[in-house]
Amino acid sequence: MSVEALLDGPILVVLLVAVLGLAGRFAVGGRRATQQRPTEPTALHPPAGEEIGAGEAAVATDVEPDVAPVTTADGVGSRLVRTRMLLGAALADLVGSGLDDGAWERLEEALIGADVGVEASTGIVSEVRRASRERGVRDLEGVRGLLHDALVAELSSGERALARRDPASASGPTVWLVTGVNGAGKTTTIGKLAARERAAGRTVVLAAADTFRAAAADQLAIWAERTGCELVRGADGADPASVAYAALDAAIAAGADLCIVDTAGRLQNRRELMDELGKVARVLIKRGGHIDETLLVLDGTVGQNALTQAEAFLAAVGVSGIALTKLDGSSRGGIVVAVQRRLGIPVKLVGLGEGIDDLAAFDPATFVGGLLAG
Ligand code: GDP
Ligand code: MG
Repeated sequence: MSVEALLDGPILVVLLVAVLGLAGRFAVGGRRATQQRPTEPTALHPPAGEEIGAGEAAVATDVEPDVAPVTTADGVGSRLVRTRMLLGAALADLVGSGLDDGAWERLEEALIGADVGVEASTGIVSEVRRASRERGVRDLEGVRGLLHDALVAELSSGERALARRDPASASGPTVWLVTGVNGAGKTTTIGKLAARERAAGRTVVLAAADTFRAAAADQLAIWAERTGCELVRGADGADPASVAYAALDAAIAAGADLCIVDTAGRLQNRRELMDELGKVARVLIKRGGHIDETLLVLDGTVGQNALTQAEAFLAAVGVSGIALTKLDGSSRGGIVVAVQRRLGIPVKLVGLGEGIDDLAAFDPATFVGGLLAG
């Protein structure tokens, strides 16, 4: 059989199949390099016994998370349903009673019950009462409006935006250090933040500097994969500061926009906490020049305990902003007021659920609007 005949016949078919197959494999291979699958051993999910060392970053993926952050009063209100009902009932009772003394007291109790804090609740109710008397406001919408204004006034101070490095300054990535006790919601908040940043087109490196608990880095790895971020982790029990350093190194090398550092929050020993967080902060500063934002994550459901915890962290590291989590399903959304008043640090973020988009930039008018939605 001549070569021409062969090329006309079955061999041509075989060759074509082979060429197409190879091309296909290259295409799949190319995609695999950037999109990691959870079932295969990857840098994010190393096979047992093959922990990657600090500094070995996983490949950034090109996943674009579908994030719709909560930005409206209705959105906030739908998540704050329990606090909203508590305050709504007190307002209805107040107006229904014709604004009698007992009902004003019950409104104050409802605010205290929502964790606004005794001092702030007393101040807010006396302000609303005075305004209602002076302006002759006695209807539900009117009184709700007065309470809205008093709460917003209580919350109106402080810069809310998360600090970023000026991209034009070419001074490396923005660095956010995230602190708080275990279980407060640090890793989840970082995951939500990462999703938001990625959706805005920024590149992010996550540092798993909570090396104390074995599962902590795995949890952050899942978020990294979900949001398409690079992850830097160390072996369990590795020095958190070395992981933080390696992550910032990787972020600088990759020209990333942002490096977010997850930390452990062991509180049993204040000295230990200060030593550990202090060292992480020092190392980041040494490598990067400065930390743009030190976020303290507080569990909004633990009430006054959150304030006690916060004081330990304030002593250990300078905190520039608060992220208050788990306000969904809690009837204590008023803790926002107490935290801001007691700590004098702006609440910048609120966690409103476990989902990827359940994070809101804290805006007093939107938040209070949601809290008091009728
Ligand atoms: P970490 O130990 O500080 O890193 O806390 P995690 O991020 O692991 O969160 C502890 C638990 O709280 C997890 O089950 C999270 O899903 C949950 N969580 C975190 N933020 C929120 C929130 O805003 N709302 C609710 N309902 N749960 C949250
Ligand atoms: Mg964690």
